[in-house]
Amino acid sequence: MHEYPLTQKIIKIAEKYALEHKADHVSKINLVIGNDSGVLADSILLYFEIIAENTICENAEIVIERVKPLLKCKKCGQYFERKPFSFSCTFKDCGGDGEPTEIGREFYVKSIEIE
Ligand SMILES: [Zn+2]
Repeated sequence: MHEYPLTQKIIKIAEKYALEHKADHVSKINLVIGNDSGVLADSILLYFEIIAENTICENAEIVIERVKPLLKCKKCGQYFERKPFSFSCTFKDCGGDGEPTEIGREFYVKSIEIE
C-alpha cells in the first residue's frame, strides 16, 4: 500500500543525485530492503515503471538487495538468523536468548548509477 509514495521518494532521490552530478540519465538504482520491513519489492518495481516514465530515471535498472532479519544474542552478543519457533542463539553451546534488532527492517537507497 505505501509502496507508491516510497517509490516516488526513491525517484526524487535519484533525480536529485543525477542533477547534482549533471548526469543525463539514471542507469541503475540499488536498493536495500529488509525482509521484515514490510516493503514489497514487486510493488516497488511495478510502480517504478509507471512513475519513472518520462523522467530522468526512465528505464533505470532497479537492483534490490534483500536483508534477512536477525536477532542479537543477549549472552554472546552475536547476530543470528532465527529458527522457526525458537529465539535461542544458534551458536554452539551458547543457549542465550536473542532480542530483536533493526537488521531486517531496513529500507534505503544504497547507491545510484548515472550516465
Ligand atoms: Zn549466543
